[in-house]
Amino acid sequence: MLGYEEIKGQLHTKWAARNLVYKDVTGSTNDDAKALGEEGAPHGTLVVADVQNKGRGTRGRSWENPKGTNIAMSLLIRPDAPPDKISMLTLVMGLSVAEGIDSAVGKNVTSIKWPNDVVINSKKICGILTELHMNPDNTIGDVVIGVGINVKLKDIPESIKDIAGSILSETGKDIDRSFVVASCMKAFEENYEKYIKTYDLALLKEQYEKRLINIGKEVRILDPKGEYEAVAEGITPNGALIVRTKDGTIKEVNAGEVSVRGLYTYA
Ligand code: ATP
Repeated sequence: MLGYEEIKGQLHTKWAARNLVYKDVTGSTNDDAKALGEEGAPHGTLVVADVQNKGRGTRGRSWENPKGTNIAMSLLIRPDAPPDKISMLTLVMGLSVAEGIDSAVGKNVTSIKWPNDVVINSKKICGILTELHMNPDNTIGDVVIGVGINVKLKDIPESIKDIAGSILSETGKDIDRSFVVASCMKAFEENYEKYIKTYDLALLKEQYEKRLINIGKEVRILDPKGEYEAVAEGITPNGALIVRTKDGTIKEVNAGEVSVRGLYTYA
C-alpha cells in the first residue's frame, strides 16, 4: 500500500524523504514541492501522491496517473552546485529509479533510455521532470525532481498504449509501492553523494552506461533542426549522449530539446 507510515517504515536513508508529505490526491507533486520549497522546506523533502490530476511531462506533455496503480513523487533538493550542472540531476534520478526498482523486484529488470526514461522490455515505466527554481539574486533556490512510476498499471490508457508499461505488466510482479519509493530514495541518496563530489556524472557514468539500452544501437535523434539516425556510444560526464553518425562523425546530443527513439521500438 502507498502511504505515509508504509513509506517511513521501509525507509533507510539519512536525508532523502526524511521530511515526507503524503497525499491521496493532488494536482501535481512538483507544484506541491515547489510551494513547500518557497516556505523553506529542507533538502530531501519528498511529496508522494497516489493520484495526480494535473501531472506534467517535459515540454508541456501530460503524465497519466490513474488511482491505485502508480507512484507520483517529487523530491526537493538544495544543491550547492553551479546552475549549469543541474540538468544532470535528471540522469542521476533516472539511474536511481532504475536501481531502486531492481532492488525492490529482486533482480535486474530495468534499463535506461537516455536521458532519464526507465524502461522494462522497451516499455516506459517511469518519466522524470526536473524543475529548477532560482532566487532573485540568481542563486539556486531549490530543484524539484518529479518522478512518475507505473507500478501496477494494467489497463494502459489508449494514448500511451504503444510506449508505456508497468512493473506488473512487464515482470508479472506485484510490488508494494511504498517499498519502491523507499528503495528509489535510498539509491538516489547514494548516487547524489557521488554527484556532489564532482558536480557531474564522472563517478556514476559506468553505472549509468551499464543500464543504457541505447548503447551500441541505432537511434533516431528527433532534433527540431532535423532528424537523423546514429549509433549511441555512451554519455559524457555532463550527461550528453555521444553518437556516431553514418559518415563517422562523433556528436554530443544534449537533452532538453531533443528526443531519442529506438529504430523499431520506443527505446
Ligand atoms: P521523449 O523525449 O522520449 O519523447 P519525454 O521525456 O518528452 O519523452 P516525458 O516528459 O517523460 O516524455 O513524459 C511525457 C510523455 O510520456 C507523454 O507525452 C506520453 O506520451 C507519455 N506518458 C504519459 N503518461 C505516461 C505513463 N503513465 N507511463 C508512460 N508514459 C506516459
